[in-house]
Amino acid sequence: MLRDEDRIFTNLYNDSGPDLTSAQKRGDWHDTKLLINKGREWIINEVKLSELRGRGGAGFPTGLKWSFAPKEIGSRPHYLVINADESEPGTCKDRDILRFEPQKLIEGCLLASYAVNAHKCYIYIRGEYLNEGKKLQEAIDEAYENKLIGNNACDSGWDLDIYIHYGAGAYICGEETALLESIEGNKGQPRLKPPFPALIGLYGCPTIINNVETIAVIPTILRRSGKWFASLGRAKNTGSKIYCISGNVNNPCNVEEEMGIPLKDLIEKHAGGVIGGWDNLKAVIPGGSSMPLIPKKICETIKLDFDECIENKTGLGTAGIVVINKDQDIIKCMARIARFYKHESCGQCTPCREGSGWMWRMLERMAKGEASRDEVDMLMDVTKQIEGHTICAFGEGSAWPVQGLLRHFKKEVVKRNNFNPLVDRNKKIPYLVDQHLLEK
Ligand code: SF4
Repeated sequence: MLRDEDRIFTNLYNDSGPDLTSAQKRGDWHDTKLLINKGREWIINEVKLSELRGRGGAGFPTGLKWSFAPKEIGSRPHYLVINADESEPGTCKDRDILRFEPQKLIEGCLLASYAVNAHKCYIYIRGEYLNEGKKLQEAIDEAYENKLIGNNACDSGWDLDIYIHYGAGAYICGEETALLESIEGNKGQPRLKPPFPALIGLYGCPTIINNVETIAVIPTILRRSGKWFASLGRAKNTGSKIYCISGNVNNPCNVEEEMGIPLKDLIEKHAGGVIGGWDNLKAVIPGGSSMPLIPKKICETIKLDFDECIENKTGLGTAGIVVINKDQDIIKCMARIARFYKHESCGQCTPCREGSGWMWRMLERMAKGEASRDEVDMLMDVTKQIEGHTICAFGEGSAWPVQGLLRHFKKEVVKRNNFNPLVDRNKKIPYLVDQHLLEK
């Protein structure tokens, strides 16, 4: 469990107000000038020492990402872009930072901008976060009035301007290059990589893109040292993290906890337990809807960090934990998720555009018990045809939840579609070939 003195977000529930004065009382903007004066090498090195990994889903090491930015400003300006799109279903952590801890984010923007040589910072907020955007703008205005940002920010000699850019609600604009396209006024479609944004990003200029939570923890890391942050959690999975717990729990909530907290503790101690009791748990999606679900058996023991999730064939993603109990129809749930991804595919890649609709239609039939038996194996094939064959990670994001369903609940899917006389009346039963797998 995270000790109170190690908590970074002390106003996550808005107990003491989001305004600048309250934020300063909590320690924000304390000696920011001194941190900047230590130099960009020192800042990047501390972030590397902290082993902070991006909190937006991919978990890429932040210090390493920053070190990709050109060391000197050449003929093109550098940009820092903050991804506040937060469109992953089950995730609502950045929202609470935007409205209750905005000064942490703004101070983080200043320190990060300095580290990557950027004088302009864009914060890309999803259109639905209108109220959060207003709160953030108020906080930015306050920071400007107090000369914390703007020309000669914090009397450090560094100039920084921050702009908010509202998205229009497309999920794919949370993908970093689609987000850049959207800021540029184009249709939000991901770019082929390479080139990577660190060299050719916004308006063709070097651009570092980070998630809200990643940037908001930077000031505390620099104040308390990278070593302190790295002492929480375990190697390569360090620090604290805001977990969002939703679904069939008694007390859905956001909570900051140490990386690697057992999933069971999160659900039982913070979210009031599963509705109907722990034994009523069916499955959990641990990292937002694009990650594979895990069944109750794994939920008993799994600790939530990047690497342990991968070891269990799932992903920490955004730490949007969706709890599904036995009152739900798991196949229907996955069909609903598949429908979401079908709707949000940007359509550039054939496997994603066609495959996401294909998966959805098959899952709908499976949920109704109308699928033919061989479709169960065909569904897995479709996910494999999408995975790794697309421009962006959306392809995986749409395929993995379906793979999770088939990995852990194939028996249930087969059973529901097993005795459909209309569909299977005259069929040989190909799935019986792998019947032994189902017994495992
Ligand atoms: Fe668009 Fe899907 Fe291709 Fe991503 S994978 S670029 S969302 S079609």
